[in-house]
Order: sequence, then C-alpha cells, then structure tokens
Amino acid sequence: MAYAPKAAFIALDFGLKALFATSEGDLLGRGVYDALIRYDQRLTTLARHIQRSGGKPRDSECYRRLVTTIRGFIKAEVNRVLNRIISLRRPKHLVLERLRFRSPGLSARLNRILQNCGRGVIIAKLTALEEELGVTSEEVNPAYSSQQCNCCGYVDSRNRTEQARFRCRWCGARMSADVNAGRNVGERRSSPETTPVGRTKSAALAELVCRFNERWPRARTLPPDPGRKGQRGLPADPRWTNPYFRDWASAARLALGSASDLGNLPTTPALVAVGLNARVPIDRVGTVEGHPQTGSELVAGGPR
Ligand SMILES: [Zn+2]
Repeated sequence: MAYAPKAAFIALDFGLKALFATSEGDLLGRGVYDALIRYDQRLTTLARHIQRSGGKPRDSECYRRLVTTIRGFIKAEVNRVLNRIISLRRPKHLVLERLRFRSPGLSARLNRILQNCGRGVIIAKLTALEEELGVTSEEVNPAYSSQQCNCCGYVDSRNRTEQARFRCRWCGARMSADVNAGRNVGERRSSPETTPVGRTKSAALAELVCRFNERWPRARTLPPDPGRKGQRGLPADPRWTNPYFRDWASAARLALGSASDLGNLPTTPALVAVGLNARVPIDRVGTVEGHPQTGSELVAGGPR
C-alpha cells in the first residue's frame, strides 16, 4: 500500500531520557533510559570482574555478547520508535537534531558503545524510510535548543531547573522540556540562517542572544543591588544575572549610570548601545523611563 503523508514535516528532538520527542508533543521510547541503566550495571560489574582476574573485557566472549545485546537493543528501539512516529504522524519529512548518544548518567564505557552504534543505527533507519516510503530527513543545529524558550526566544541555562520541565525566566512559559526543544528544532528548519548546521555552539549562542536583545533592548528592571534585600516592583530582568547576557548587562548598567549622572531623566534616548547587537539603531536602545530614585517603575521593556 502506498504511503500517504498527512503532515508536511515533524521535528524530532533526540535524547536518551525519551528517545524521541516530537514537535506534536509525543514522547516515545521512555523506557529506554531505564533499560540502559540496567545494562550499564551489568556491563560495569562484568568488566570489573574480568579486569580483577587479569583479563581484558574485549577478549571476553561473555563481555562481547553483552555488547552485542546492547547494540541490538538500541537498534530495535530506534526502529520501533521511528516506525511508531511514522504510523502516528505520517510525515513527509523529518527534521532532526544532531544525533548524540550520550548521557552523563551512564558510564564512560556504555557511552562509548552507544556513540559507536547509535548514529549508524539511526542513519540506516532513515535511509530505509526514504527508500521504502519516500520520507526524507535532514539535521538542524541543536545548539541551545533545550535552553531557549520557544514562546519568547529567551536563552538561559536556568530555564531548565529540572531535567524534564521547562520554565522560562523571561515570559514564565512552562512546558515539557522535550516538547519545547522539539518545537525549537522545527522552527530552526524554517529559518536556518539563525543557527545553520555546522555553526559552533558559541556562535549560535551569540546569534540567539543578539536576536533577543534586538527585540528587548531595554532592561525590564534595575540591576540587582547587592546591598539591598528584597527588591520590590517587577520581577527582575533575568538578563542581569545570566552569564550569556554579560555584555548586554554591562552596557545596560553603563546606560543607567550615565542616565542617573545627569541628575534627571534623559529627554532624548541614551547614547549607549546595549548588548552584543551592533544592528540595534542607537535611538532604540538604552532609553530610560520612569524615576530612577523610586526604582520599581523603571524601564519596562519586556512583557508583564
Ligand atoms: Zn519565554
């Protein structure tokens, strides 16, 4: 029977905790990580046992058999999950994050085995899907897609306080961390110029930060004052304490400082460009509204 797609594309975020999360909100292969932890315990115990009796794990028939079993497990899971996504969503095209088979919760030994086989297994399955069903696929740059908010674009490592949950420090959006990342990946496909495949992580971050500052050049609140407890008013602008926005914060402090040096409010826009972004027109940045003396109503640049 011919394959009839019903979706133009779906985005897949790859991670070991849920093998795949789709942009539609499906989480698939959730038992994989638990199974890998059990395999890891067997593998580590066996390797230790072999080494203690003076042997090398790779010379042991028993060890090699276990490695083959783990590879078979990964292959079966990847195929099962991808088949499920195809039958569930019937996409014409798949958009994938760079495929990383690694988790800090697993031993270096198991991570090495997973990295050696995982990518090949996925590519083989994707090739088969294209040949058999005509489902095409492509990779996108995943840099910071798990830390970036899909609603407002704000990037902050603190947006991920728990592994599974996402909560944006800028706009307050809450969702499954995997779903958030899956949607980011889907969007990067439609505008690959922000984070093209192959762009380094630091260059991608600089671009994401720059784009955010372009939208919100002005500080939402005053910088935190270490000498004063419990500041009142709007929730603090998270950029003040976000290392990704260090350049923006120092430029914004400068803008505020030069504004209060004047003794009263500037009637013309402040002359300090804010952040990494040289493309912001000078009259759009660093403007201070409200009264610096009272603080709380100062510079509302962001959403409520
Ligand atoms: Zn947000």
